[in-house]
Amino acid sequence: MPAENSPPRPLTVVWFKRDLRLHDHAPLSQAAQAGTVLPLYVIEPEYWALPDVSYRQWRFWAGAIADLQQQIATLGGQLCLRSGAVVDVLSQLRADYGPFDLVAHQETGNAWTFARDNAVRDWCHRNGADFTEHQQHGIWRGAALDRNRWAKRWDAMMAAPLTPIPSDIDWARVTSDALPDAAALGLTDDGIVAMQSPGLAAARATLDSFLHDRGAPYQKAMSSPVSGETACSRLSPHLMAGSISMREVYQATLARQSAVAALPKADRGTWPSAMKSFVGRLHWHCHFMQKLEAEPEIEWLPMARIYEGLRPTPTDSSLLSAFEEGRTGYPFVDACMRYLRATGWINFRMRAMLMSFASYNLWLPWQQSGTVLARLFTDYEPGIHWPQSQMQSGETGINAVRIYSPVKQGYDQDPTGVFTRQWVPELAHLTGKALQDPWTLDALPKGYPARIVDHQQTAREAKQRIYGLRRTAEARSQSAAIFEKHGSRKPRDLRTRRKVAHTDD
Ligand SMILES: Cc1cc2nc3c(=O)[nH]c(=O)nc-3n(C[C@H](O)[C@H](O)[C@H](O)COP(=O)(O)OP(=O)(O)OC[C@H]3O[C@@H](n4cnc5c(N)ncnc54)[C@H](O)[C@@H]3O)c2cc1C
Repeated sequence: MPAENSPPRPLTVVWFKRDLRLHDHAPLSQAAQAGTVLPLYVIEPEYWALPDVSYRQWRFWAGAIADLQQQIATLGGQLCLRSGAVVDVLSQLRADYGPFDLVAHQETGNAWTFARDNAVRDWCHRNGADFTEHQQHGIWRGAALDRNRWAKRWDAMMAAPLTPIPSDIDWARVTSDALPDAAALGLTDDGIVAMQSPGLAAARATLDSFLHDRGAPYQKAMSSPVSGETACSRLSPHLMAGSISMREVYQATLARQSAVAALPKADRGTWPSAMKSFVGRLHWHCHFMQKLEAEPEIEWLPMARIYEGLRPTPTDSSLLSAFEEGRTGYPFVDACMRYLRATGWINFRMRAMLMSFASYNLWLPWQQSGTVLARLFTDYEPGIHWPQSQMQSGETGINAVRIYSPVKQGYDQDPTGVFTRQWVPELAHLTGKALQDPWTLDALPKGYPARIVDHQQTAREAKQRIYGLRRTAEARSQSAAIFEKHGSRKPRDLRTRRKVAHTDD
């Protein structure tokens, strides 16, 4: 605290965004060194009205914000919560408390947050406020990006020491709004019944239980929704809200990797492969987000522009509704969708299968089905979501085309049928092969819809359409440029680029 009668110290506003924590928070550290700290979180009603955000996401965010409020209160401060457009909030703060500088983490969000950040930079420029944006993830902006050295720089950045919480912060005393409820933001209950707990303690407990207990079978168990629920880390919503930093997760993982390596070989079990695989996924987090950072248009345009308009918006919305409601007549697709609707999470393989089904079998534009999925994911992270959505739809120009068979995935990932029967109770009496292809029965089980397309025929047609374009000289030339801009430089990925179409039927 400053001595009595000392001149007022410079005021710095720490704008919390997708980084709802105090530890490993460089902007907070900078502000605390400079003088008085005003911690700000702005609830933006315009953001919460966007088509890709949802009630379940707000509930998780609200919990993470409340947790941050509590952490700041424990240190003697108060999080300043304000509702409205950020530039209006900044103008009001300036009118009430005088000039300040602004610090925040860089954000790789959707097009709306990108435009909002530009407006904030512009506001700072016009109002003579310094705005410093610190790098939060292994994602580089503009000219700072070097794809050839990306992985090395990621490792170095994540290995850097964590920034400690500053001691004895001089908190600004300001008024704060209350945290609104979902209804005040126009968000209505979307049927989520089991959601992960938000906040720092939950994030650390999740990391700890994964690294020391749940994660042993990770590499093999991650592909099935049955085993993946516990064997996957489940860190995604915490990383999205930034309650825990990627650096903290990475360093804890490396420490666990070393501890496992120090064990006698016979005691290591499956931990070495689990940890190696997990470290790879942590790189992917930023590798995918880097794509959206480098080219924000890929939120709505295919990376390979030759595919633009390939899947026209259908005039009939019945296919999209059946997909969204889990009533496609494909039991495993419907089980996955209903599980996702209830829990807000599903494992990677099943996300890929759902997108593949919507894009190849239903021939829906990924922008439409991707918006449906974005709303259902509590962990919606635009920088991962949109590049993955178009990758699973064959429109990136640099990845192998992979068409998942919804029937085979059911046999492989739910071999006993326990998951399908639980989430599609209309089929609870079925066992064996008929559970995944009930249309082969003499009569469809009561209450369960007929399949909306023939998956084998639609997969064949999709391949023809995609390959009709993919083999052209224009597609090849676009693909080379896309690889230069977005491609992973690992030899393994170069091999993947050369792979031909894959259908697991
Ligand atoms: C169509 C589609 C959409 C997706 N949308 C999202 C999204 O909105 N938000 C999101 O966090 N993930 C998304 N993913 C990636 C992946 O499915 C999730 O990160 C993962 O299932 C989250 O569970 P987990 O934390 O237990 O993952 P773990 O397997 O334990 O992985 C740990 C972390 O690594 C990162 N990661 C793992 N797999 C991937 C991947 N394939 N690509 C990029 N990063 C990865 C995530 O940050 C994840 O939390 C999407 C995948 C697909 C196919």
